[in-house]
Amino acid sequence: MRCPFCAHDDSQVKDSRPTEDNASIRRRRQCSSCGARFTTFERVQLREVTISKSGDRREAFDRRKIEQSVSLACRKRDISQERIDQLISGIQRQVETAGENEVPSSRLGELVMDGLRQLDSVAYIRFASVYRDFSEARDFEEFASSVQEVAGSEDADDRDQGSSDS
Ligand SMILES: [Zn+2]
Repeated sequence: MRCPFCAHDDSQVKDSRPTEDNASIRRRRQCSSCGARFTTFERVQLREVTISKSGDRREAFDRRKIEQSVSLACRKRDISQERIDQLISGIQRQVETAGENEVPSSRLGELVMDGLRQLDSVAYIRFASVYRDFSEARDFEEFASSVQEVAGSEDADDRDQGSSDS
């Protein structure tokens, strides 16, 4: 595995262990040239899936992109990395076992929304506010308040209001 820091072609595995949910293997590596340490993950990929987007654009399903948007939605929420990884692995599994070689990006977005809705209402609202194109601020407020009602009062005092300043 090439070193991401100095691009040297060789690195040594220092430690190798399964993640807690046993869905992947985590390897700590060290570059034999510059000595930098980094981590790689080995995961099962059942099949190649293409994500189709608007305007005939297509790209290979990329787990890292989902990780990025889910991590952003879950930022500063009290959600363990373990649960986030499980959510993403679940989505990946659903995409790979759907029987289609091509999955619309809208379907992928729905899977992420469904998963986040069960995980954390604030993360769900954050993701939806980016993913759904709310044309009116009022539409978004209605959506957000309906989510809060469904989610109950468990975290009503812990809403993130930092981004709503105007
Ligand atoms: Zn290096």
